[in-house]
Amino acid sequence: MAHPVNVFKYCPRCGSDQFRISGARSLTCYSCSLQWYTNSAAAVACLIFNQEGKLLVTRRAIDPDKGKMDLPGGFIDPMESAEEAVRRELKEELNMEVKKMVYLASRPNEYFFSGITVFTTDLAFRVVAGNLDVLTPNDDISSFEWIDPNEVDPFEIPAPSIRYFIKEIAPHEPKHR
Ligand SMILES: [Zn+2]
Repeated sequence: MAHPVNVFKYCPRCGSDQFRISGARSLTCYSCSLQWYTNSAAAVACLIFNQEGKLLVTRRAIDPDKGKMDLPGGFIDPMESAEEAVRRELKEELNMEVKKMVYLASRPNEYFFSGITVFTTDLAFRVVAGNLDVLTPNDDISSFEWIDPNEVDPFEIPAPSIRYFIKEIAPHEPKHR
């Protein structure tokens, strides 16, 4: 019910209340003819292993799902590449320098935030870091830890896409790249 087409009542360009559902994921303004589509926002998630083959997971400092398990990463900015987003997010969140990255898989996700459903397409990258010994949690993460992906309780990971990357992709990744 919190799908954007059910939430938005007024045209964001002209303010008209003649802003109506015109498709499964679109709205049209019958005053100024603006057409608005609900699209999926692209985001990146990073799988990083240490020398012992443990996976780096973070704890969210902010809602949605504050305190729950996540992977480092975040939304891709407009006009930014996924690779640039990986480098920027890892620098912001962990002060990590990226030595190497490989694209692995993508999964869709949806979550409820500030009264509206947000759709994302999460892209997973395997990342080899250049400075694993000097990481510092910053920005929207409160802490990080190294875990065995096989031992994680799936209920600790709220986002289905991130759960898939940790439980289904990470255990099959080679320990070293
Ligand atoms: Zn309008």
